[in-house]
Formats: sequence, structure tokens, C-alpha cells
Amino acid sequence: MYEEKLIVPRPTIVDRQFTKPLLCGPGPCDIWPSVAEALSKPVLSPLCDELFDVMDDIRAGLQYLFQTKSKLVLAISGSGHSGMETVISNIVGPNETILICCRGIWDDRALEMSKRYGIKTKVHRILFNNTFSLTLIEGIVKILRPKALFITHGDSSTGSVQKLEGLGKLCHKYGALLLVDTVVSLASEPFFMDEWGVDGVYSSTQKGLSGPAGISPIAFSERAQEVIKKRNFKPPFYFDIELLAAQWNCFGNTRQYHHTLSPPLLWALRSCLKEVINETLPKVWARHAETTAHFHKRIEQLSLELLIPKPEDRLVTVTTVVLPKGYDYMEFVKYMRNKHNILIFPGLGPTVGKALRIGIMGVNSTIQVADAIADAMADTLIALKKSSL
Ligand SMILES: *Cc1c(COP(=O)(O)O)cnc(C)c1O
Repeated sequence: MYEEKLIVPRPTIVDRQFTKPLLCGPGPCDIWPSVAEALSKPVLSPLCDELFDVMDDIRAGLQYLFQTKSKLVLAISGSGHSGMETVISNIVGPNETILICCRGIWDDRALEMSKRYGIKTKVHRILFNNTFSLTLIEGIVKILRPKALFITHGDSSTGSVQKLEGLGKLCHKYGALLLVDTVVSLASEPFFMDEWGVDGVYSSTQKGLSGPAGISPIAFSERAQEVIKKRNFKPPFYFDIELLAAQWNCFGNTRQYHHTLSPPLLWALRSCLKEVINETLPKVWARHAETTAHFHKRIEQLSLELLIPKPEDRLVTVTTVVLPKGYDYMEFVKYMRNKHNILIFPGLGPTVGKALRIGIMGVNSTIQVADAIADAMADTLIALKKSSL
């Protein structure tokens, strides 16, 4: 029956074999074995008690990760970008002003999103290999008085980390809220949401948390909650934090259906959090710092230059490395994959043609992995010198 009505014949879907590379780009990162196991747990309805318990565990774990006592903490169904959409669209409405502190591609994405929501945008751009000083930001905020300021903590397009201590207080002094991207810095770089006065923050699972992409941690401060209560605009339905808070039971006894959460991703995020909780944040931060310091030493021994000049500005998760004249970035990346099965990335946005981007984070943040990458790079430098110079 109906066979003759099918205008599209059956496609052939063949089994595909491959050897998984070591994932050392700016994301995704390899996943913890415990997370791989969690992904194969049975699928339940997100309205079952078993998954309500998982959601409670996730909220508790995220309060620890963000270091916040705020109750408005949950995870958005979507990759890191969904967190960006949620933070911006819930805080800043059409015709209100957002100030974007721009030093890499993620800030440009925030700019593009804000424009689509009809938000008035102001941009302050600095050189891609630099970070913002509080004095510079204060000068701008004082004049523009935006509703919110957006800034990226760890920037994976440039390999820099922005200092945030004191920034919340500064923003609040001029009536602005502080919105921060921690996609590639959470659970790798020290982060203290409440102490630093951060009002809206999001992250993702596939970077320092070593999980699969598709579910993104997010948190709003009490100050942000007040602003959300009083807002006179509506964010997109899927990202409405008030509806999501009711689904995640942030303020007690609501558990309202909003959309179907993905049970495997909930189990996976819970496992990522368990890994960090078991190791403890200070030890996770110390492990990342030690591994990357070792990697940078190896890079300098290869006579390669780091793109970010000031050591204190260098991001612990993603290192940007400048190749000597004559080397082609794409060719270098391809050789690393083909010969060593290590996946690294070339530059992105402002760093295209200027650097390699090498990610060592989460489960991969070990001396062994750092050495494996450095050894492969040493070989690649020799191999490509012979063939192309
Ligand atoms: C990777 C990354 C993103 C985007 O995350 P997706 O999961 O790809 O949507 C945003 N911000 C930063 C800093 C990132 O490194």
C-alpha cells in the first residue's frame, strides 16, 4: 500500500566507521566516561519524579559552579547560544540600551542577537589580543547609562580571559546590570557570581564541563529578578525565564510543563556536575592552571609565540598560538588530524590567519594530553617545514 505514492525513494544509510580524534579545539571537548554512561540511561518523561530529582540535583550543582545563592538557576535546552539568547532577551527589551564590550566573535554574536530583538546597541571595541580595564568601562557606562552591559569572561576566539572582579559593583553604581558569557570558562577559570555582582550568566556543557552540547547552565541574580518582574516586554516563549523557572521549580512547587526537556541531556549534565563536585572547584581550577602552564612552557620550548601578550590575560582553556612565517594554519590543523588524530582549530573571527586555537579543558586537562599535543605539534612543525618552505 502507498508504495507507488512515494515520490522519494529510500536513501541508503551506511554504517560509518571512524576513530574518534582527541578533541583539543575550543569545543567540543571529550566527555567524562561517567557522562557517556549517563547518556545511555533510560528515557523517562520529564514529568516523572525521577527526573524532578535530577533537575533538583542540577540546580544545586549549578549554584555551586556559579557560586551563587540565587534561586533563579537552571539549564536551557540548547547549546551555548541559547543561553546568550535567554540572558539578553529576558533583561533588555526593545528600545532599551545594551552596551557590548567587544573583543571577540561572541560579543559580535551578542550584538547581532540584540539587534534582532530591537534593542538599542552600543559597542566598545578593543584590540582582539587585549582585555578591558575597569577604568575604561566606567568611563563608557557613566556616559551611556545602558540597561545592561554584556561581556565575555573567557573568549575562545582570541584565547583571553577578562577580569571581572569589581565590574558588577561598577555597573550597579550607574544602574546597569552585568551580563556575562562563561561558556568556555566555567569550571575551569575561577568564577564567583555573587561576589562579583554578576546579574545574568550562561555557560554550556561541551567545554570545561566535558559533556555533550545541548543543555546550557544559566543563572540570574536577585537584582535581575526584580528587573524581570517589572519588565514591560515579553521575551521569546521558548526562552522566557519566568516560564522556565516554573518548570524547574526554582521558587517551589510549580513544576509546570513548558517544553519537553531531553532526559539523556539532564542525566549527562548531572554527571558533569558530579565530576566537578567530587573533585571540588579549587582543585579543578588548580588542575587547569597547572596543565596549561605546562603546555605553555612546551609551546615556548618549540620557539612558538602565544598570541595574547600579557600572561594574566591568557585563558586557561583555550591557547592561541602564532606559527612562524611560511606555515599555513589550515594545513597545520589538517596534518595534526590526519597524522596524529588530534583535532585543533585555526583562528576564528578576529584571529583568522593569525593563530591556532588549542583547547585543553575538562577531562582533557592533564599533563599527558598537553604533552601529546605538544609532541604532535613538534612533529608537524618539522613535517610541514620540509614540504612547504
Ligand atoms: C563555544 C562558545 C560559545 C557558543 O557555544 P555553542 O555551544 O556553540 O552555542 C559562546 N561563547 C563562548 C565564549 C564560546 O567559547
